[in-house]
Amino acid sequence: MKPAPFDYAAPASVGEAVALLDDPDRDTTVLAGGQSLLPMLNMRLARPELVVDIGRIPGMAGISERDGTLVFGAMTTKGEIERSELVRRRQPLLQAATQLVGHPQIRNRGTIGGSMAQADPAAEYPAVALVMDAWMRTVGPRGERTIGATDFFVTSLTTALAQDELLVEVGIPALEAGTGWAFTELSRRRGDFAMAGTAVTVRLDGEGRFSDVRIVVFGVEPAPTRASAVEEILRGNHPDTSLHHRAAGEVRDAIRDPLDDIHAPGDYRRHLAGVLTERGLADAVARATPQAEAS
Ligand SMILES: Cc1cc2nc3c(=O)[nH]c(=O)nc-3n(C[C@H](O)[C@H](O)[C@H](O)COP(=O)(O)OP(=O)(O)OC[C@H]3O[C@@H](n4cnc5c(N)ncnc54)[C@H](O)[C@@H]3O)c2cc1C
Repeated sequence: MKPAPFDYAAPASVGEAVALLDDPDRDTTVLAGGQSLLPMLNMRLARPELVVDIGRIPGMAGISERDGTLVFGAMTTKGEIERSELVRRRQPLLQAATQLVGHPQIRNRGTIGGSMAQADPAAEYPAVALVMDAWMRTVGPRGERTIGATDFFVTSLTTALAQDELLVEVGIPALEAGTGWAFTELSRRRGDFAMAGTAVTVRLDGEGRFSDVRIVVFGVEPAPTRASAVEEILRGNHPDTSLHHRAAGEVRDAIRDPLDDIHAPGDYRRHLAGVLTERGLADAVARATPQAEAS
């Protein structure tokens, strides 16, 4: 199929883009890398009247570090993130997740801002954002906002972004020294969206006990979910397989209404959430270095 007719604009600044989006009489949408939007246009699942292409706005891409946080311009592609030496050193969890997104062609066009704004339940970046307490900076007609990941992802394909707001930056804290991490998922074929996945970070104290644990499950419910109650069970305990097994059971039991579609039945996704929690914990613990408490 071909898209329904639409007008096209390629603004030269963020201000111009916001002015175009701020039009109550027209259904407008942003075009970034086009890797989700173009299929939706072609299948006529999206029928905007105006497409605002932000690909020609200078300064919207790039990776830098500010006060221990990696800051990504919204138009930074996954290909750039995958190849970034700074990301490899400071945020290997994000880099591992990036390698699981689609195929190289998709990563070379698709942007970090597009993935966050798209908020696909099975997408890797929202899960990383949630486990790392990332933030999104937006610009709209009412000014700027900085929105934490917990508030940003609302439900499937829905975020806190208003239609007239542009996501301009994503901040993802670097992993602190000693933090163990794991990003695991299962998809039918390499490059497919995940049927389920987990993002896990752990910190161990000087005695080797969990001092901090974060577990995010994605692809199973309409939005990625932090398993806070399970993290509480683990905190203060020594990692071991039976504890991880118990945590996996708790993660499974907390999933009330899993996604159920042609890609995987709900029960299977729930089962995978448990398996991948256990696997994620084991891998993250193996990468962690115990850290004595600062006195
Ligand atoms: C075959 C295939 C396999 C894929 N596999 C995966 C996968 O395994 N995992 C995964 O996560 N993704 C996957 N994707 C999707 C891909 O990662 C997309 O790149 C991503 O979802 C959207 O990024 P984009 O830059 O292409 O955004 P676009 O497609 O241009 O936009 C997506 C949506 O976000 C909005 N938007 C984009 N940027 C902004 C912004 N700065 N401010 C406000 N709104 C904005 C757009 O209006 C649109 O609604 C796959 C895509 C394809 C075609």
